[in-house]
Amino acid sequence: MKIICIGRNYAAHAKELSNEVPTDPVIFMKPKSALLIQDKPLYYPEFTDDLQYECELVVKVSKNGKYIQEKFAHKYYHEVSVGLDFTARDLQQKQKDKGLPWEIAKAFDASAAVGAFVTLKDDQKIQELNFSLDLNGKTVQAGNTADMIFSVNKMIEYISQYFTLNIGDLIFTGTPAGVGPVNVYDKLEGFLEGQKLLEVDIR
Ligand code: MG
Repeated sequence: MKIICIGRNYAAHAKELSNEVPTDPVIFMKPKSALLIQDKPLYYPEFTDDLQYECELVVKVSKNGKYIQEKFAHKYYHEVSVGLDFTARDLQQKQKDKGLPWEIAKAFDASAAVGAFVTLKDDQKIQELNFSLDLNGKTVQAGNTADMIFSVNKMIEYISQYFTLNIGDLIFTGTPAGVGPVNVYDKLEGFLEGQKLLEVDIR
């Protein structure tokens, strides 16, 4: 499986990091070794002094496909969750300044935390989902998928031009505003439509 991530998919977040709002989706990937297994803690990596959370809607691919058109993309998933795209912001800034790839800042071990998956109900539209993140019991990010620059179906069309999507692949769909640092002994809890799906302790 692979983990495909979209950067800068919420205008307010692009602005908070002084990035331009993109005209095409910004894509990067994380390897399978980046998955943080549920209920395992994240051990603060020694190579960063600025580990940050990014809470995102995560879509699980349920069908293999290539060159998927936007209008058919909804047939390629039925389960979603919330995840954390952990980022070593200091390393990412260095890589960005040099125009280098982001993997060391974004794709390290346990950098992709994913909560329990829930099946989308018939009356739930993927572009009308509320999700949020609590840090030590206080809400630090709250987003609605309606505010995405590129919809999930549009992203699937774009991604699948370049990469075959396979069953079990995960798509991290970008973070809303409010990203910030974590510290050892912090507790992060992710919610989708008020339902807690994710918990990560930093150690
Ligand atoms: Mg992200």
